[in-house]
Amino acid sequence: MYNMGDAIFHRPESMPDRSTHFCPGCGHGITQRLVGEVLDELELRERAICIGSIGCTVTSYIYYDVDGMEAPHGRAPAVATAIKRCHPDLVPFTIQGDGDLASIGMAEIIHAATRGENITIIFANNANFGMTGGQLAPTTLMGMYTSSTIKGRKAEQNGFPIRVSELLATLDGPAYIARVSLHNPANVRKARRAIEIAFKAPMAGMGLGFVEVLSMCPINWKVEPVDAPQWIVDNMVPQFPLGEYKCKPEVMGLKTVVKE
Ligand code: SF4
Repeated sequence: MYNMGDAIFHRPESMPDRSTHFCPGCGHGITQRLVGEVLDELELRERAICIGSIGCTVTSYIYYDVDGMEAPHGRAPAVATAIKRCHPDLVPFTIQGDGDLASIGMAEIIHAATRGENITIIFANNANFGMTGGQLAPTTLMGMYTSSTIKGRKAEQNGFPIRVSELLATLDGPAYIARVSLHNPANVRKARRAIEIAFKAPMAGMGLGFVEVLSMCPINWKVEPVDAPQWIVDNMVPQFPLGEYKCKPEVMGLKTVVKE
């Protein structure tokens, strides 16, 4: 535990003392921590199961003191569905990147969402396939340079970015869908609150909890880590507006007990 003046900062109890494999300035470490805080808050260490999916978050489960399982590429929502249906008392969750969820896993997320599965999905959107070298993803921004769009994303060649939160919000199954960002402390706090609701809603049997997190990937954006948060503001937020895209009326009651 570290004392910083009046503030007390400590690692969530549900996270072991382990260094992460993420690049300097990556947003994944922040997202992992926020999930860890929620696991502590909701006392889920004995009930949560972290489903690893392919991408930079492939081994998410090693950063939590909870049970874990590995899913094939894009299939984490299907694996989480199976766990939840076989063991309704458990709390399966996954942290999926955009290459994983919005490309090869698009079928799984859409069908899990429309079935209203009582699972939690945290969707890290950094606009590229991070782990494999920064190729075009379904979420790559218009005009964005990647290792497979060296002249920038062009609509006539690559189509347009998929706005996953808006897409899923057209379905009846999800209980809660929000897009948040990690570009400054105020937005990190909003992300923390959204993630908490995304756990509580499926735990209450209301349907899928889904949070899209705009997350820094400085190494593939070719920017300095310190500049990556502003890159989100300048480039990602205009194409991926922040906000809640779905909140069933019964979920509103959960919000009143969300801690700041
Ligand atoms: S490649 Fe990007 S998303 Fe993956 S760990 Fe590095 S900075 Fe993070």
